[in-house]
Amino acid sequence: MNDKRIIVAIDGPAGAGKSTLAKRVAAKLGFIYINTGAMYRAVALWALRLRVATSDMHRLERLAQEADIALTLEGRVLLNGEDVTEAIGDANVAAAASEVSAVPGVRRALLSVQRGLAERNSVVMEGRDIGSVVFPQAQVKIFLDADPAERARRRARELEQRGQAADVESVAGEMSQRDLRDRTRAEAPLVQAPDAELIDTTGLSPEQVEDKILQVVRARVSNGKVAQ
Ligand code: C5P
Repeated sequence: MNDKRIIVAIDGPAGAGKSTLAKRVAAKLGFIYINTGAMYRAVALWALRLRVATSDMHRLERLAQEADIALTLEGRVLLNGEDVTEAIGDANVAAAASEVSAVPGVRRALLSVQRGLAERNSVVMEGRDIGSVVFPQAQVKIFLDADPAERARRRARELEQRGQAADVESVAGEMSQRDLRDRTRAEAPLVQAPDAELIDTTGLSPEQVEDKILQVVRARVSNGKVAQ
């Protein structure tokens, strides 16, 4: 690993504020923002469209290997050249992503893409296993969490903003199911890495969480060149 490259890993359950914060921190530091959840969602969307069963591990692995997934600097997600940014935001795609991401072959395929993306650049990468599996050597590891009721409210608000009907109770149900699956799967489960800094975002504004993350970055990056 090139010494000058810095990896900021941000993990945590759904609705903890990862995307909002990872984007803000990346912009502040001038690093590239990478949303690994979007990659699992893109594979899930393709599987749904092709009606591949979530039990068909071999086909899912092949899809993940063959999927051409691009994350643009403007934050768009392309699947085989098609802009799927809106499509992958659907609740049914999130649920399918959580099933598809439990398939070891799918994880293997995306892991190598994710590592490749950070080969030349400093990155802020968000997901579930970035600090634990993708980059165990990351200089900065943050684990964002929040009270489940607040996470469900945030997620419901997000869905509403996308024009999707969302009552908080059913969102809470879907989210806890997804979190349970993510935490209990055999391969790369959602877990706080032992050297990750836990930040509870309950009741905090994005600005407040951003400050806390930048403090951790400053403390952990010894050359002092980032996070003025
Ligand atoms: O972060 P987001 O909610 O978009 O992720 C969708 C799903 O993708 C998660 O519920 C999880 O199952 C899966 N995922 C994963 N590993 C990652 C990122 C996302 O398993 N690094």
